[in-house]
Amino acid sequence: MYDIIIIGGGPAGYNAAERAAHNKLKTLLIEKKSLGGVCLNEGCIPTKTLLYSAKIYDYAKHGEEYGVTFKEAAINHDFVIDRKNKVVKTLVAGVGAKMKKAGVEVINGSAVIQNKDKDGFNVKVDEKIYTAKHLLICTGSEAAVPPIPGLKEGIASGFCLTNREILDLKEVPKQLAVIGGGVIGLEMASYFNSVGSKVTVIEMLEHIGGFIDREISDILYKNYVKKGIEFKLGAKVTGVKDNAVEYELKGEKCELAADKILVATGRRASTQNIGLENIGVLTEKGAIVTDEYGRTSIANVYAAGDVNGKSQLAHTAYREGEVCINNITGKKDRINYNTIPAVIYTNPEVACIGETAESIQQKGLKAEVHSFTLKYSGRYIAENEKGDGIAKIIIDSQNKTILGLHMIGNYSSEIIYGVAVMMETKLRVYDIQKIVFPHPTVCEVIREGIFMIE
Ligand SMILES: Cc1cc2nc3c(=O)[nH]c(=O)nc-3n(C[C@H](O)[C@H](O)[C@H](O)COP(=O)(O)OP(=O)(O)OC[C@H]3O[C@@H](n4cnc5c(N)ncnc54)[C@H](O)[C@@H]3O)c2cc1C
Repeated sequence: MYDIIIIGGGPAGYNAAERAAHNKLKTLLIEKKSLGGVCLNEGCIPTKTLLYSAKIYDYAKHGEEYGVTFKEAAINHDFVIDRKNKVVKTLVAGVGAKMKKAGVEVINGSAVIQNKDKDGFNVKVDEKIYTAKHLLICTGSEAAVPPIPGLKEGIASGFCLTNREILDLKEVPKQLAVIGGGVIGLEMASYFNSVGSKVTVIEMLEHIGGFIDREISDILYKNYVKKGIEFKLGAKVTGVKDNAVEYELKGEKCELAADKILVATGRRASTQNIGLENIGVLTEKGAIVTDEYGRTSIANVYAAGDVNGKSQLAHTAYREGEVCINNITGKKDRINYNTIPAVIYTNPEVACIGETAESIQQKGLKAEVHSFTLKYSGRYIAENEKGDGIAKIIIDSQNKTILGLHMIGNYSSEIIYGVAVMMETKLRVYDIQKIVFPHPTVCEVIREGIFMIE
């Protein structure tokens, strides 16, 4: 008998398991594949490892602009993949060690919720039943495969790939078509462009990056085009056949030759075959319905991470898992979905949080938008010969608190958390003006920007 059974050992599950054990709960974590989930094995970490090599290669190619020359810069895809596998192995082992140290019992197997009886919830793994007072469902998500004719067959034959297969691709495709210009599509397009593929991204919207600020999306687009990535925007993929993808653009039928196709059209919550119906957990559009406390429709059953379909980011998953454990152990806690940063880790990086110039108009919020160049930062100028980065800050006109910040330029991935702190603690412009930022740094532009506000 356990205090809590956690199903799924990704960021939501393993982090919650550690917190639960620290809070003296007898904890069982069940993982069917590999600890670390999508994030460590086929998502955040592998992609960032690849993109770091691509970034170094980019720097090497442009070394001349900074007085550094090489005989010839080259990137070795096989080496990069091997290194990625090593990084993943180290981190997965680290999670295993963490679980052991915290006293979490981990079993490898596929969990199916059976029922609830007087003792608690019964979960079956390989014919054995485990029982707990609380359940935390962290089964994550998988790549969504849209019903495009030929796509299923393409995946079966290995011509079409999801994020999982592309991260182990041995040969660099000569021509790579990417369906979907969201974060995952852009990061992979960027890496394969660096290692020599002719990359074309086909995106249904008229802009890339989905949720990001439109002006920043345009700057990012120009940077990618300069690097040689091609885009078909406002284009709808209609079919996939051997060595080609078919799409419609402005009413015209088009065809694009490709050696491989990456499907990056979003993720769907993993709620199938885990026995949710056996205890009546409510789902909506395939995702588990949760509130800001992590509660599902059934008492003592919580869910965290991608499985609730809310934010589908690893750091949200961590926080949601923690919120669930805090509430289970009597410390009332809730997640604030308005202060969750999101990052695109290409070169240049993009980081965003909160409202955009577009969303404040849609919501009718009284807010001011201040846009400024990153060239206010001495370090940005020192390190970016042709930098076109900007930051855009959205300020609540009445309270003078930050409602959003959007940035394009390197280090923004590391800077954005400071803005999350300012937003979470509701600092006003006047409070932020008193904070001392280190000099010279790129984050100083936020201080500069704040001083422009009356
Ligand atoms: C290519 C890519 C890049 C990404 N990059 C980033 C990034 O840079 N930053 C970021 O924040 N997010 C990123 N993400 C998203 C991030 O990976 C997810 O948000 C995160 O992994 C969600 O964590 P989770 O614990 O909810 O689920 P998952 O990581 O999906 O883990 C769920 C786990 O549950 C297990 N499981 C499922 N069903 C069962 C069962 N019945 N029994 C036992 N175990 C089960 C699965 O095997 C899996 O290990 C990326 C995703 C992809 C695909």
